[in-house]
Amino acid sequence: MGQSFNLQGILQSFRVLTSPRLMVPNIVVRDIRDINFEQLHKSGIIAIAFDKDNCLTKPYGLELHPPFQDAWKRCRKVYKDQVVIVSNSAGTPDDKDNQQAQAIEQALQVNVLRHQEKKPSGGQELLDHFSGIKAARIAFVGDRALTDVVFGNNYGMLTILTRDVVTEEGDNPMALRIRRLEHRVLAFLDRMNIKAQPHPIPIDLHAVVLQAPPPPESEEEAKADIVAEETRQKEAKESEEREAKFERSKRAQKMTTHPSSNTGVSSTAATTTGAPAVAAAAAAAAQAHVHTGQTASSQTGSVGSAGGFSTQVEPQILSHEQGTGWERTITQVPGEEPVHSIKLAGHIKGIPGRR
Ligand SMILES: [Mg+2]
Repeated sequence: MGQSFNLQGILQSFRVLTSPRLMVPNIVVRDIRDINFEQLHKSGIIAIAFDKDNCLTKPYGLELHPPFQDAWKRCRKVYKDQVVIVSNSAGTPDDKDNQQAQAIEQALQVNVLRHQEKKPSGGQELLDHFSGIKAARIAFVGDRALTDVVFGNNYGMLTILTRDVVTEEGDNPMALRIRRLEHRVLAFLDRMNIKAQPHPIPIDLHAVVLQAPPPPESEEEAKADIVAEETRQKEAKESEEREAKFERSKRAQKMTTHPSSNTGVSSTAATTTGAPAVAAAAAAAAQAHVHTGQTASSQTGSVGSAGGFSTQVEPQILSHEQGTGWERTITQVPGEEPVHSIKLAGHIKGIPGRR
């Protein structure tokens, strides 16, 4: 038995054009074996619904895909009678006398929803079936983004997409092409950082998936993954370096503000003149370090380099001199350029690399 033309579904799918995140699932798994049903239930998802074709059975099949036996047993044990199958073939007006629905119920030992509207429409019929259970506490699992995921997201359910289909053999050629296109669109949306709509129940999404995410399906996707990972690592490294520079700058400024605490040299004149301005300037210098990567010396036209701030080692004070209204301190991180800091009444300048 095939499926009749799903006009309502096509019209619904156009909503995705204005809100593409509707087709983005909360969770992607390879197939139902990856779902940690026990953890999902503990997280507050107390009912679960499944698409049938290419999610539980082969296309238009009436038997559970054999490798899914254990997972299906776990699901039924956890969810008991709060499991239902929502198919766009079985249980719809296309299913004469619900013969297909009954055969599936016999084989899979769960209810098949009898419904008039096809996914992604008809969510209310599922909510009516799970009478009294809020949509946010229902998970919908399926292999199609534009039908199963949009259906679940439309009604605020937790959506789980199964990426590895049971088989493409015997599938509706149009559905097959659209599914492949959906995967490409999902990969694109991911690269655009368009995420699933936030689910109202806080769920540890990693805890409810039993295995590692599926490997990339195409060379293009593999390359995109590599680029995304490289960008992530680069940004993390830059962030760490900025943090390190900021901390080092703060420490260096602290030493020039209170050198006597480290060297025993008196700096009464300097520390008692213009202290608030010094603090403000130090903060500004630190900010300049953080946001622009430039040193304070570049602000005064001196040739400097921020390259000296690259380790976590504490700077050592090499020398400290002071006169009327001024102080000069030279600090150095072992293996790096010395940093000269000159403090005048009301000013402070850090000049890395200059002697
Ligand atoms: Mg399907």
